[in-house]
Amino acid sequence: MNCCQPTDPDNKYPSRIAIDGPAASGKSTIAELLADYLKYLYFDTGVMYRAVTLEGLRRFGSVENEEIITQLAEDILIDVLPPSKNDGRKFDVLVNGEDVTQELRTARVNQFVSLVSAYPGVRTAMTVHQRNISKRGKVVMVGRDIGTVVIPDADLKIYLEASLEERARRRYQEEIGAGRAVRYEEVLSSLRGRDEKDSSRLYAPLKPADDAIIIDTEHLSIAEVFEKVKNLLNLSSRI
Ligand code: C5P
Repeated sequence: MNCCQPTDPDNKYPSRIAIDGPAASGKSTIAELLADYLKYLYFDTGVMYRAVTLEGLRRFGSVENEEIITQLAEDILIDVLPPSKNDGRKFDVLVNGEDVTQELRTARVNQFVSLVSAYPGVRTAMTVHQRNISKRGKVVMVGRDIGTVVIPDADLKIYLEASLEERARRRYQEEIGAGRAVRYEEVLSSLRGRDEKDSSRLYAPLKPADDAIIIDTEHLSIAEVFEKVKNLLNLSSRI
């Protein structure tokens, strides 16, 4: 996987920052703000599971065959590059050279991504890439198992949470804002399904690391969560 190299500021803050939490808990928004603030690489690991799911659906029409999908995950070339278009995307995601960024967030991918991400072989393949990226240092990495499995020795681990209803409300507004016609009940039930599957899988389930700092974002604005995160940076600062 290729991605943009970060510029290094003055080395006083934690280098490798893990942000985990359930879908629509605000992870990506906060991680992006943080990476921008620190001039670190921002890496959203969810796109990798989405890319494998999308490619599996396109090639085979289904992702039920664990062996085939695991083989696909091992063979597929996923690149994350700086955005080439000005359509609101934060980066380009390429699968074997093809730009699939816009197709990663469809309802169909949402429906099947938690099945694919529960396959141990798929996780092993993705984790290898993610660890390689984390070794570059200076990264804000977002996902479900970053603090527990991918970078268990991360310098700062944050876990964001909010109720299912609040997260569904946020995701619904995001979708409507982007001009996509969705119903709140559909968003709620899709998030509920993913929460259940992501938390109950045997391998690398969604959960906070023992040493993660949990932030309940239920009643907080993005700016308020970001303030809390910046305070954590200062608390973990080496100067
Ligand atoms: O973060 P996002 O909602 O894009 O993630 C999509 C799905 O990818 C999650 O619901 C989860 O099944 C899977 N995922 C994961 N581990 C990660 C990141 C995402 O299992 N580190």
